[in-house]
Amino acid sequence: MKGLPRAATARCGWIAENRCVHLINADLHSHSNVSDGTLLPEDIAARAHAQGVALWALTDHDEIGGIQRARQAAHSLGMDYLTGTEISVSFAGETVHIVGLGFDDNDTQLRAGLAATRAGRLQRAERMADGLAKVGIAGAFEGALRYVGNPDLISRTHFARFLVDAGVCPDTHSVFRRYLTPGHPGYVQHEWARLGDAVRWVTQAGGVAVIAHPARYRFSPTAEYALFTEFIAHGGRAVEVMTGSHSHGEQVKYAETAREFGLLASRGSDFHSPEESRVELGSLPDLPGTLQPVWEALQHRIERAPAAAAA
Ligand code: AMP
Ligand code: MN
Ligand code: MN
Ligand code: MN
Repeated sequence: MKGLPRAATARCGWIAENRCVHLINADLHSHSNVSDGTLLPEDIAARAHAQGVALWALTDHDEIGGIQRARQAAHSLGMDYLTGTEISVSFAGETVHIVGLGFDDNDTQLRAGLAATRAGRLQRAERMADGLAKVGIAGAFEGALRYVGNPDLISRTHFARFLVDAGVCPDTHSVFRRYLTPGHPGYVQHEWARLGDAVRWVTQAGGVAVIAHPARYRFSPTAEYALFTEFIAHGGRAVEVMTGSHSHGEQVKYAETAREFGLLASRGSDFHSPEESRVELGSLPDLPGTLQPVWEALQHRIERAPAAAAA
């Protein structure tokens, strides 16, 4: 998806190096094979750079094990870097994702919180496989494990890839629809981190917490209002407006929500794989000029590429 001509969409605030803050090509949501993406952190960095991304964050699920490699790759390509992760949270009976950006990746509490959030995944995967075995799909646990890049981080996506390659479904979306969502045989209810804990891990490590892809949750207006107000009460400061999983109408809706709640706005493709992702790295429309980009508030946390490496 290509946006309008870049200069047409934004009203500039100016930052370092005389760059208009809205026009920086920032992609602050992407996955490597350290979680459920298919590419190495270095390959995502190279692809982001080739797509014109100037400020990048790798945001693997519940995991920051790819950060050092991602940062090095970004800097060797001349890309500015923000630390990132995407934390799984249980809120009002739904799984919500909180992206953390610009934190200190050595922070002990953040690292312990992420480890605790990852901890139940293996057992959950075994139970998912049990559910699938009951409907005649044998060996799904071992099958999914073959797709895993990080044994600590087995996800539904790895099951989906296994079931597509095994010929059970034509694509990962149909696997989710038929097997891996509530009410279907491979779905297992799971208790993730608490909203307040996830927001605190990020903010106390110096970062900003962001509500990821808000249109994806099946909340009533009341529950959605509760999510935003509780998130803010815990110290959350931003929401994804431009994400690979928002339609144009949803971009407009959540731009309005960001204004209403006084939240910073983020932009990220949620890229997982060249075969599965609809939206390419760095290709979403710019944020509207009326919103404050989250990276403007994270200036002091951006890890700048060494000048010699700048493209
Ligand atoms: P998990 O954290 O193991 O529950 O897996 C969640 C991941 O599954 C998300 O981050 C997406 O990458 C993927 N996912 C969720 N729903 C769908 C869907 N309908 N189609 C394709 N991938 C999905
Ligand atoms: Mn994912
Ligand atoms: Mn997500
Ligand atoms: Mn994601």
